[in-house]
Amino acid sequence: MTRVAVLGSTGSIGRSALEVIAASAGRLEAVALAARASTELLAQQAQRFQPHWVIATDAEAAADHDWQLPTRCELLTGAEALDHVVRQPEVDIVLSAIVGSAGLWSTWHALDAGKTVALANKETLVMAGQLVMELARQRGAAVLPVDSEHSAVFQAMQAGRRAEVQRIILTASGGPFLRYPADRLANVTVNEALAHPNWSMGPKITVDSATMMNKALEVIEARWLFDLPPEQIGVMIHPQSVVHSMVEYVDGSVVAQLSPPDMKLPIQYALLYPERQSGVAARMDWTRGHDWHFEPPDLDRFPALKLGFEAARAGGTTGAVLNAANEAAVAGFLAGELKFTDIVPTCRSVLDQHDFEPRPSLDRLIELDRWARLEVERWVTL
Ligand code: NAD
Ligand code: MG
Repeated sequence: MTRVAVLGSTGSIGRSALEVIAASAGRLEAVALAARASTELLAQQAQRFQPHWVIATDAEAAADHDWQLPTRCELLTGAEALDHVVRQPEVDIVLSAIVGSAGLWSTWHALDAGKTVALANKETLVMAGQLVMELARQRGAAVLPVDSEHSAVFQAMQAGRRAEVQRIILTASGGPFLRYPADRLANVTVNEALAHPNWSMGPKITVDSATMMNKALEVIEARWLFDLPPEQIGVMIHPQSVVHSMVEYVDGSVVAQLSPPDMKLPIQYALLYPERQSGVAARMDWTRGHDWHFEPPDLDRFPALKLGFEAARAGGTTGAVLNAANEAAVAGFLAGELKFTDIVPTCRSVLDQHDFEPRPSLDRLIELDRWARLEVERWVTL
């Protein structure tokens, strides 16, 4: 029995993770459930999964809710409660599925306590990948990818030795605007950006997929997770989202991982690693034909990708600044304050203005995260 702390349990990944846990035939148990303010859903999840801890980081929202929790289930509020719970001996794996930089500290504390982290929160590695992976190595803590591309690479890497890897190729669906007339992109609405062709995800990552900033963040995530220089990371557009990524070996052999687009598979793989078992994820239908298309990305149409490779190359403070600028710009777009086509130029401008440091401390990265958000706010109100 593996005891899982599900951080971000009310979100898209969190809800899928609870389905995986429910279908695990007792192999997995949810011992902690955490979210920000979705108190109603959190309380329902607690009734069903009977965890030891329920955490609502938004203390005000928690105070407004009339909690009906199972006996022996403790309610904790505030962000520090996450850091406390992930360190408890009753927790074996922390599923880090909070969205954005808010997921950094709980991931950090989990690794510091030597826990295995199933990482969906890519922003943690984008912000502080070097420091986070160093901490994991020092504490002997495993970071297992949940992001479908990184799970695919991780699975395909088991076909050869690490030193035999020539490059990895991350696939990208291209999002809803892959073939959209470029001159109309400036006027796309929030609803159009939120209509992803293949994946149903939270709003932030869905907008990131539409700008392809998601793939930029994933290049940086892969750079740190697999300790690969950016020259060994490629991106291919693959609109069907069936081939989740590939590893090319020195002999020219390319190993890919395939499955229908369903996050329950990479979540289950991370939670049960190194074992596999039948579960609730969708399966391939091999009774019908399939057409899979691949093409290189158009960097003029999707300038976010350029930023991603630049930040992966530069390292240091760039990931934290890019990530924060993007989070703030996406929030501005979702609030109707920023045009879709201004998201990436906003990030570029904030990145160009910042004082680069090659080896920043975690505190410095957090400071820059705040600074970059304020810069975007200034840009939005201009
Ligand atoms: P979501 O918006 O659906 O859910 C976010 C969750 O985080 C919610 O439970 C919310 O309550 C919680 N949360 C937000 N702010 C918080 C805070 N300050 N403190 C505590 N909890 C907080 O997002 P999602 O789509 O599930 O994505 C979660 C993470 O997984 C993101 O980092 C995303 O990039 C990554 N990811 C998601 C998918 C996907 O298919 N949805 C795929 C790959 C990676
Ligand atoms: Mg992904």
